Amino acid sequence: RHCRFEPLSLSDDDLPDAWRIIDLGSTNGTFVNDRSAPAAVLTHGDRVQFGRNICKFLAGGHVESAYYEEIHRLVTTDGLTGLSNRRSFEEALGREFHRAQRYRRPLAVIMLDIDHFKRLNDTLGHLAGDAGLRQLGALIRGNVRRDDSVGRLGGEEFAILLPEIDHAGAMRVADKIRELVRDTPFQYEGTPTPITVSAGVATLREQDAAPLDLLGRADELLFAAKRAGRDQVRG
Ligand code: GH3
Ligand code: MG
Ligand code: MG
Repeated sequence: RHCRFEPLSLSDDDLPDAWRIIDLGSTNGTFVNDRSAPAAVLTHGDRVQFGRNICKFLAGGHVESAYYEEIHRLVTTDGLTGLSNRRSFEEALGREFHRAQRYRRPLAVIMLDIDHFKRLNDTLGHLAGDAGLRQLGALIRGNVRRDDSVGRLGGEEFAILLPEIDHAGAMRVADKIRELVRDTPFQYEGTPTPITVSAGVATLREQDAAPLDLLGRADELLFAAKRAGRDQVRG
């Protein structure tokens, strides 16, 4: 209500060529580089002030914007697998948890853990272990929808967030991945090594108070799958 950013399009494609800021009659005005600006075309690096906020305008495609995007990528992804890291996964979980609760929509979380991964590290070495983690990450990412967040929560533990998926659907997804992993021997320097995963599947309940309740339940079910003999899904 204070001011508005408007795209200025000079050409016919979808991307704006520039942006204009327009003050909407605010009490304290809008300032660009410390000068009162009822309306101004912004250039990269301009300092924009409205209310108590001071912002810096970065034009898309500019090297500085690319720098911030790279920093963002570095703090949100896991370097080994390229999946979301724990922090970023939990952020997505928080968002989807509140959305699903508000609109009474289904939401599921799958937690997966590689079975006897220590053995693979011990027999083939840590580099092979790392390659195994990358291969599993790619397999999971390639077999869920774009909208589904996939995270490496730490070590050899992965999680999938499935918005709009009910319990039966999430069990099917988890079992499909479990079978794919079992049927895709891990390849490292020509030696195929079979690996398996165990999984726990939890879906949102009305009495869940916080996102971590859901994640905790998936973790307990994963542990139950391990106790029951591994290479299986519990939900
Ligand atoms: P379980 O079937 O009970 O899950 O057995 P496990 O051996 O997989 O489980 P455990 O949690 O005891 O061991 C996990 C191992 O994962 C320990 C460590 O050697 C390995 N690990 C954790 N992070 C990494 C990593 O980034 N790279 C590699 N190569 N190994 C890792
Ligand atoms: Mg394990
Ligand atoms: Mg583990």
